[in-house]
Amino acid sequence: MLAYDTLSRKEITLELDPDAVIKVFVCGPTVQDSFHLGHARTYTFFDSVVKYLRLKGYSVFYLQNITDIDDKIINRANEENVPYDVISKRYTEEYMDIMKTLKIDSVNFYAMATRHISEIIQQIRVLVERDLAYETSDGVYFSVAKFPDYGKLSGQDLESLRIGARVESTEEKRDPRDFVIWKKMKPGEPYWESPWGRGRPGWHIEDTAITEKYFGPTYDIHGGGTDLIFPHHEAEIAQERSISGQPYLARYWIHSAMLNVNEEKMSKSLKNYITIRSVLNDYLPEELRYALLNVQFRTTVSFSHELMNEARANLSTINTIYRKLKLKIGPSKSLNENPAIAKLSERMDSNFDFRLLFRDLLEYIGKWNTHIEDLGDREAAIAIETIEWVDSFTGILPAKKGDFTGEELVGFLLKLRRTMREKKDFAGADEIRKNLRGMGITIEDRGEETIWWRE
Ligand code: AMP
Repeated sequence: MLAYDTLSRKEITLELDPDAVIKVFVCGPTVQDSFHLGHARTYTFFDSVVKYLRLKGYSVFYLQNITDIDDKIINRANEENVPYDVISKRYTEEYMDIMKTLKIDSVNFYAMATRHISEIIQQIRVLVERDLAYETSDGVYFSVAKFPDYGKLSGQDLESLRIGARVESTEEKRDPRDFVIWKKMKPGEPYWESPWGRGRPGWHIEDTAITEKYFGPTYDIHGGGTDLIFPHHEAEIAQERSISGQPYLARYWIHSAMLNVNEEKMSKSLKNYITIRSVLNDYLPEELRYALLNVQFRTTVSFSHELMNEARANLSTINTIYRKLKLKIGPSKSLNENPAIAKLSERMDSNFDFRLLFRDLLEYIGKWNTHIEDLGDREAAIAIETIEWVDSFTGILPAKKGDFTGEELVGFLLKLRRTMREKKDFAGADEIRKNLRGMGITIEDRGEETIWWRE
């Protein structure tokens, strides 16, 4: 499987151990405000990548952090005159809710920064003890000059970074490139106790404290949007490698490009954002997923209604054919060989190219559609299996509503029957069994479960 690795600046083969747990970390959001389409792009992409890896048989542990303490959260709390965690809780809930709506359900664990303060302090302590970080009157800073590889991920050298660095107001900061890992509290701010006084963690250190806790000093894939390459991911590498002494933090770095508005990154701070919720008033989650995946992940994209309408039209074609095929041959069968899936896998194995995956799928669909009436059983089964295979990691089919095989309906009737039995309405429950049998469906109770099959 080939993928573009930011650090090596080229497509490389991902060598993932099929017998090990593949550790994937993607930077989660700062929970300060509603979530916009930029977030939807990044998280849909990584959701589909992880699902694809799992489909290929890898066992993936997908970890995300949640930045639930940060200057922006504090500012927002001050604006609303509420404690900071009213804001962080409100937007964490909103994030979880929106992820569910977008069918982003591949993350194994969300780690909140504020629940990892002791791990964060421990990392800072090691850095200070080794003289790789130092204390000032307003915090603790990491000494960039002491980590010679700083800049490698973003392709900059230390010297040019020094020239380019903005000199900040604090006199005690020894080098303008140094970054803060602990911020001392100002009056009224939330705080945690630490060896350097009351304060809160800097942004970069929360991620390494979290990944070290769950993954150890190194792991397989680190992902995020391209906006995080510098300084965030650069800083993560510097911190963790300085602590662990390992030659790398993540083996592979995958960054997805930005979603822009008029050539500018869509962002909360620029106030040019369109929320996911507002788009979902007009479009289905599946349409949004399709539109966002339908751009090669390294290409920036501008949001537009044309993009969404194209997604709607293509999905409508895919859905119509899928339903027709389902009506024709009923439930899916598992095939030993599926040439369409073999071909489409090549698209995914070549830099997760969802755009070409969808394009090729539509080509197949066009072919199947031209002779749908006389498609043989095997060809129809191939078509159904292919569409379901693509859906299993892209999440583009509507949530089974259009499924005419009746599987959902049978499931519903069985649930109803169970409730009736619990209420001792055995006559009603038997009626359901009899009627199902009349339709050729046999059911059998096995303990807690009821299984069914077609005669
Ligand atoms: P933030 O909430 O800004 O910390 O960002 C959380 C995640 O969303 C990061 O992985 C960012 O790279 C990603 N992200 C933020 N803005 C955009 C955007 N305009 N386009 C794509 N991804 C974005």
